[in-house]
Amino acid sequence: MPYVFDFDHSHRKPPMDMKDLLGGKGANLAEMTSVLGLPVPPGFTISTDACRDYMADGWPEALSAEVGRARARLEKAMGKVIGDPADPLLVSVRSGAKFSMPGMMDTVLNLGLNDESVEGLAKQTGDQRFAYDSYRRFVAMYGRIVLDIPGEEFDSLFDAAKELAGTTSDAKVPTELLRYLVDSFSQIVERYTGRPFPQDPDAQLRGAIEAVFRSWNGPRAIAYRERERIPHDLGTAVNVQAMVFGNRDDRSGTGVGFTRDPATGERGAYGDFLINAQGEDVVAGIRNTEPLSALKGQFPKVHRELLDIFDRLERHYRDMCDTEFTIEQGKLWMLQTRVGKRTGRAALKMAVDMTTEPKIRLTKAEAVGRVTEDHLASVLHPHFSSTGHPVLAKGLGASPGAAVGRVYFTADDAAEAAARGEAVVLVRSETSPEDVHGMLAAEGILTARGGLVSHAAVVARGWGKPAVVGAEALRISGHYFTVGSVTVAQGDWLSIDGTAGTVVAGQVPLTAAEPPPEFNVLLEWADEIRAGHLGVRANADTGADAANARSLGAEGIGLCRTEHMFLGEDRLPVVRRMILADSPEEEAEALEQLRMVQRTDFLEILRAMDGLPVTVRLLDPPLHEFLPSTHELAVKEATVGLTEEEQKLYDAARMWQEANPMLGTRGVRLGVVKPGLYAMQVRALMEAAGDLAAAGGHPVVEIMIPLTVSREELALARRWVEEAVAGALAEAAHQRSARGKPAPKARPELEVTIGTMIETPRAALRAAEIAEEADFFSFGTNDLTQMTFGFSRDDVEGRMMSAYLELGLLPRNPFETVDADGVGELVRLGVSRGRSTRPDLKIGVCGEHGGDPASIAVFYQAGLDYVSCSPFRVPVARLAAAQAVLAGAPDGRPAKAAVGKAGAKGTKHKA
Ligand code: ADP
Ligand code: MG
Ligand code: MG
Repeated sequence: MPYVFDFDHSHRKPPMDMKDLLGGKGANLAEMTSVLGLPVPPGFTISTDACRDYMADGWPEALSAEVGRARARLEKAMGKVIGDPADPLLVSVRSGAKFSMPGMMDTVLNLGLNDESVEGLAKQTGDQRFAYDSYRRFVAMYGRIVLDIPGEEFDSLFDAAKELAGTTSDAKVPTELLRYLVDSFSQIVERYTGRPFPQDPDAQLRGAIEAVFRSWNGPRAIAYRERERIPHDLGTAVNVQAMVFGNRDDRSGTGVGFTRDPATGERGAYGDFLINAQGEDVVAGIRNTEPLSALKGQFPKVHRELLDIFDRLERHYRDMCDTEFTIEQGKLWMLQTRVGKRTGRAALKMAVDMTTEPKIRLTKAEAVGRVTEDHLASVLHPHFSSTGHPVLAKGLGASPGAAVGRVYFTADDAAEAAARGEAVVLVRSETSPEDVHGMLAAEGILTARGGLVSHAAVVARGWGKPAVVGAEALRISGHYFTVGSVTVAQGDWLSIDGTAGTVVAGQVPLTAAEPPPEFNVLLEWADEIRAGHLGVRANADTGADAANARSLGAEGIGLCRTEHMFLGEDRLPVVRRMILADSPEEEAEALEQLRMVQRTDFLEILRAMDGLPVTVRLLDPPLHEFLPSTHELAVKEATVGLTEEEQKLYDAARMWQEANPMLGTRGVRLGVVKPGLYAMQVRALMEAAGDLAAAGGHPVVEIMIPLTVSREELALARRWVEEAVAGALAEAAHQRSARGKPAPKARPELEVTIGTMIETPRAALRAAEIAEEADFFSFGTNDLTQMTFGFSRDDVEGRMMSAYLELGLLPRNPFETVDADGVGELVRLGVSRGRSTRPDLKIGVCGEHGGDPASIAVFYQAGLDYVSCSPFRVPVARLAAAQAVLAGAPDGRPAKAAVGKAGAKGTKHKA
């Protein structure tokens, strides 16, 4: 395979589909040249193969000769020779990887100029100023990009020159000064490199190509790839292209154009241009640009031609494109195009609009495929109205959206301030269940410690509240925190961006979340596609959450965590009474009180989800989570002493304290130790279901046992549940007959099923026998990940995860995106073994991964029936589930009829 391809090379398939080899820029330059026949300055692309070989073994032998031949062909086509002192051909050397990495990699313009050829250029064009303007640009760019000299060295001199000339416009710096700048720039180069500026065009070209290769591994590029999850081993292509000059004169210029508005999605061309300017000038913001519409007055022919090209690009790519163009003395040249980036709002509008536009005719399936998780998030959550605010601290973006408020450091202070009507950002080292009232009152949450599944992160995501966690630069002490030399005190304004994980001092203006009308249209199409293939439920613990989840499209509850009902301010004391009980009577009394409150809680949830399945998980966390911190009580004991009540709590807290609570007495094990607890919960649930059914509703109850490890254990728990269900039903019948009411005939039987979570490796491995006792499985992938890796998530996420990701020891944080190879393997095993016993076993997932698109694809392939995620993730999960279905059926399952159905409306692709 050759390393070098001319833009007009005839490939076997459309070059636009060859981004792996040619990079995005090269592939589209070739497409515009050879398929669309647009005016593109000729050139050639050095493939990503060459870059990869270069990174592995240095400059490939064969490359020099291939570049030499391609260069000769280019020179022949242009009728000029690079470096010719009389009439030089100039080229640009442009990076271009498979995925666009805006501003992350480097490009050198005007290559081929030297002290002699600059004079030739001046003579040929009759324009000294233009020649020296091009030369000073070249020396500075080459110095910065190829020779690694800090750009400020050149910029500060250029600014000084402008000041000297009494102008702020680049285009008004006189020739003499430009000449002088070239000299000074060359001296800077000599000072830094110990050698004169390279005059030999061959050396210039080789240096620039190598610099582009190297820029692939520059820190900016690496950081960008980390964030965008682009693999590090793709390499970049290099494009060598004949220069055209927008800085030639006032009949020249350069601009960027979009085929429609990338911010709103409105139809119609959109963009900016600058007269007498080159390359980056438009985006650099040095002069005020003019809107594309102004081209019409100044260059009517070019304007018409450009609009016509935009139209052809949209037809051809069947999408919005962005472009770079240059006008040289009245002639239009296209320098780049690609399918353009867009805001979430625009993405939704364009995807829906394009299904009805005759020139594009997207299918619904294609439209669904064009929208990403980030697009949805940006319309669902408020965000900073502008960018570029100085970042005070960085943490993990734990729950998307931006928030602004006054800082408070305790949950009580936060709640009080919010009650006074203040907007609050709660700042804690980390949060615990005791902070929930403050978290609820806050606009946003910031913690100095903890990872993406820390308490703060999980709770905030559940409520759709912006949160930044693990901002380790924060030093919190009492009523203020510091970051370096900056102090932020209680009551000061603070802004956080839970999408990016950034913290900004002061009040950043926010743009409210406002889904456009296309939002629902698109998600309904997604629902059509995934119907019957992959359901989406929500994790919700209250009636309000359940109602919200349903309005966002949830088809039931996959996880109702009953412990959250125990944490309310009115509940906690009762729970503590139950734990502290000295006698069975006392315990029974406390349980009775809890039953009453749980009954109302359950009723609200079941009512909100009437007719849809509600999976209720029996109590899961270790009991000491409901007790105050032993540390605080120890301090109090040593200082002011404890009340009798506090002493009892302290004793209990110490008694229940465990060395390793996540692996301790929790889940079903707790039920074994305190059997009355699960019976009480089931009774409360059944009574609530009975209430709803009596009121004409249709409750669908799924009772779920957490943390099971064996069939025997599940069988025991199942027996308690069945007994409690039977007891509750008998009790209801008894009460009816006592009131003399006959059992209503038409009343539907209560639908109750009993199942278990699969969240230990053993449960997944022994799924065949566990399924004998389970009507359904729900994979708890948070715990399963923790136990499969042996990673304590609260500890590893803050401390070692980022190092692991940087070193490539893990491809992704397995708490964010399920580990498809390891944990995924256990899920697949659990599914096939469970269904080997019970082919109709209903299986879902309720870990945090249930809202993560990449994980949803893994779960769909594993054969799961539904995913469940926090209410605010439901729209993302609906989209991702549809995209997973579109990507292809899980092995061994019938092909998806829905794809054909959704796809049938539109016309075929262009060949
Ligand atoms: P980026 O990927 O950062 O946009 P580009 O390779 O597109 O980098 O180049 C930077 C700027 O230089 C762009 O404005 C582009 O249009 C301009 N440019 C690149 N090659 C040429 C050329 N051959 N003639 C004129 N301008 C060019
Ligand atoms: Mg570009
Ligand atoms: Mg669990």
